[in-house]
Amino acid sequence: MSPAPWDIGLLAVDAAVAATPMAARARAALPGVRQVVLSPGDPLPVSADGGRTLHVKAHKGRFLRPCPATRNYRCCGYQIIHIGENCPMDCSYCILRAYFRDRTLTAFANTGAMFAELDRTFGRDRTRPFRVGTGQFADSLALEPITGHTRELLGFLSDYDNVILELKSKTADLTWMEADPHPERVLPAWSVNAPEIIAAEERDTAPLEARLAAARTCARAGFRVCLHFDPICFFPGWEAGYAATVDLIFDYLQPADIAYMSLGSFRCLPELPRRLAEEGRALPAYMIGEFALGPDGKKRLLRPLRVRQFRFLAARLAGYGFSRGLYFCMESDEVWREVFGRTPRMLGGLAAHLLDVARNRGG
Ligand code: SF4
Repeated sequence: MSPAPWDIGLLAVDAAVAATPMAARARAALPGVRQVVLSPGDPLPVSADGGRTLHVKAHKGRFLRPCPATRNYRCCGYQIIHIGENCPMDCSYCILRAYFRDRTLTAFANTGAMFAELDRTFGRDRTRPFRVGTGQFADSLALEPITGHTRELLGFLSDYDNVILELKSKTADLTWMEADPHPERVLPAWSVNAPEIIAAEERDTAPLEARLAAARTCARAGFRVCLHFDPICFFPGWEAGYAATVDLIFDYLQPADIAYMSLGSFRCLPELPRRLAEEGRALPAYMIGEFALGPDGKKRLLRPLRVRQFRFLAARLAGYGFSRGLYFCMESDEVWREVFGRTPRMLGGLAAHLLDVARNRGG
């Protein structure tokens, strides 16, 4: 029997969701894995072989949340559907390192409650458009072959033509396409980075070529895709690294295949280097540099260095004819002005602009 995906050694299902379709799919997808049903109050067991635990449970709080933004940085107006917690991949810069200290992966199986909440929001006014994603605390698709969460969500959303769902991942998983969603209502998205960063800092993720090949498959099926340069890291040789990635993108895709692309500079909670040291990991070169503490409490590369990197990438992308759908994740008006010569307000607001770009409207 082939090894379980993501080194999962235990499937723990809460009794409250044991009869759900998601629990059934997880059981079927993990045939050789020890499986237990937990009664209320039972402690979560650990996997005897040191593997990961997949905990299938109900989520008690709100499912739809606004993306965290601050007054000082321009947010893109994205809303996130909370499908689960933690990620089986291991990126040195990942914010989840600050939230989850163990190897337990959580998937929320009470999709009936989720759909009821989403209907109250999306169904209230069908003329109001929404741009949403999944996985604020997880990769959108890492567990998709096991949970089928996105396929179920796409089935639900097929009735809501006012909702565009972005699926952001560092895997090359395309099993969600089995739900046969309308291509205009799904934006498959991949994070991309310089080859050096992917090789050294993004453990267990799909190679860049595999992500781009998946993006090309989507483009050929009529979807427009999104790419996110995030986090852009400052390291010796970054120009050559990021130039190589931009060049590779256009080996696989045409500019018209890409709805939008974000640029986000590396930012982290100040305790991240200590967390890595506690795990016995050497401090990556890109974390040793000149940083300032932003108003959101996160460390950011000094603004002139950020602007230098943004200008470099914007110019390289423009050389391939891609510029309209380019935006910053969490940057100030000053940075927008310095790089693009305009602010989100001049575009009619970033959220509205990206909705237009996502729906392929505007000039
Ligand atoms: S793939 Fe995303 S969620 Fe997973 S470890 Fe990397 S940055 Fe974190």
